[in-house]
Amino acid sequence: MELVEESPFRFRIDRRDPMRVPGVVFASRALLPDVGSDRSLEQVANVATLPGIVGASYAMPDVHWGYGFPIGGVAATDVAAGGVVSPGGVGFDISCGVRLLATDLDRADLPRLRDALMDGLDAAVPRGMGRGAVWHLADPAELDAVLRGGSRYAVERGHGVPRDLDRCEDFGAVADADPAQVSERAVQRGQGQVGSLGSGNHFLEVQAVDAVHDEPVAAAFGLRAGQVVVMIHCGSRGLGHQICTDHVRAMEQTMPRHGIEVPDRQLACAPVDSAQGRAYLGAMAAAANYARANRQLLTSAARRVFRRVAGSGLDLVYDISHNLAKIETHGVDGVDRRLCVHRKGATRALPPGHPDLPADLRAAGQPVLIPGSMGTASYVLTGVAGAPAFASTCHGAGRVRSRSQAMKTVRGQELRRELEARGIAVRGASWRGLAEETPEAYKDVTAVVDVAEGAGLCRRVARLVPLGVVKG
Ligand code: 5GP
Ligand code: MN
Ligand code: MN
Repeated sequence: MELVEESPFRFRIDRRDPMRVPGVVFASRALLPDVGSDRSLEQVANVATLPGIVGASYAMPDVHWGYGFPIGGVAATDVAAGGVVSPGGVGFDISCGVRLLATDLDRADLPRLRDALMDGLDAAVPRGMGRGAVWHLADPAELDAVLRGGSRYAVERGHGVPRDLDRCEDFGAVADADPAQVSERAVQRGQGQVGSLGSGNHFLEVQAVDAVHDEPVAAAFGLRAGQVVVMIHCGSRGLGHQICTDHVRAMEQTMPRHGIEVPDRQLACAPVDSAQGRAYLGAMAAAANYARANRQLLTSAARRVFRRVAGSGLDLVYDISHNLAKIETHGVDGVDRRLCVHRKGATRALPPGHPDLPADLRAAGQPVLIPGSMGTASYVLTGVAGAPAFASTCHGAGRVRSRSQAMKTVRGQELRRELEARGIAVRGASWRGLAEETPEAYKDVTAVVDVAEGAGLCRRVARLVPLGVVKG
């Protein structure tokens, strides 16, 4: 894989057949994936062959190998020019994302509250494999309401306040969800999991604002130095996974009919403007709503604990997904075009002034939430004007070691002891899950954010550090 260094933060993969556009990798030399062990740059080139792709096939600085598309990949296709949608460009955990909640507490309050808070959260947050959820929806009509209504439905049912919805991407629900495109199997998998974290990479973390890089923007987000905050990371559980599986299979069948050839079967796709493309987007939107309802219910569970133990509320800063395809309008070569923007392990980052932002965030830009790991920092960023990759940036630190490799480097018990010794309380679901998520398995989140900022994708607002983690 030949890379041309365009700047210290930007590398190019030149177009060669059958690529339709070049690849662009936002990275420093140090962060570039190791070609010996990670084939994500090959995946960036493969994505560049997709019908209708415009601009470039982009990789964010946290890029690593994924199913078809790399994780940390962004690709936009022109809907009117036969542009495709690919489930692999969204990922199995549809609308997996992060929300951040601000407490009224100061980090100095934590030593006296921490054990009770962590034990309360440990008991209140369902997680791990098959261990229940806040809701079990035996009535299919209720699951349907979740698939159409997302966080809005959860709030209607008393799990949250209307202000929460202002601080959610899409104001809490994606339009155009089509539950008819969600298979029976996906429904079955989804019924008992609304309001549950899932497995190890997902978490609810109590954090402190350790540094503020931009006071006015932090204030607009409701953040200040020393404040205690809560970050929740989870997605659409088995329902989203099953939808991805079902629609990849269906698209494998329909691709020849559309005359589409892809270099990797995992890039199965269909024109956005086709029956199969619309079916996937309808099902994907339903899963996106499921994921948002999931995060809303977990918020409600965490609020009860914070109220009871600490007398504190939890105000939503923002909720944003990092696995989604969206139909958006962007200028391409000076002309506005309707694009299907795939962000897989990448976060939308709207600049200040964007009409999709709620009024109280309009001047500041969209909060971008970047988890690091349970032993390192996490970041809050904001969108910037004129960013190069369809208003997108990174979504985390990004893995450098697979789960199985990570497990060989440390035992869960040992890791927990190390973290506790550093003042980070740990409530895990399994020792194995914990070991798979060792901070060593991830890139240096600060280096990733440096590149994202240096490349003009976003701007730093605040750095967060972990105080306690409830791990999936
Ligand atoms: P993903 O969505 O790709 O599974 O994870 C997103 C990012 O979350 C990872 O790249 C990693 O940087 C971060 N992450 C994983 N586990 C934890 C955790 O326990 N705490 C925090 N703060 N970040 C985590
Ligand atoms: Mn996920
Ligand atoms: Mn995720």
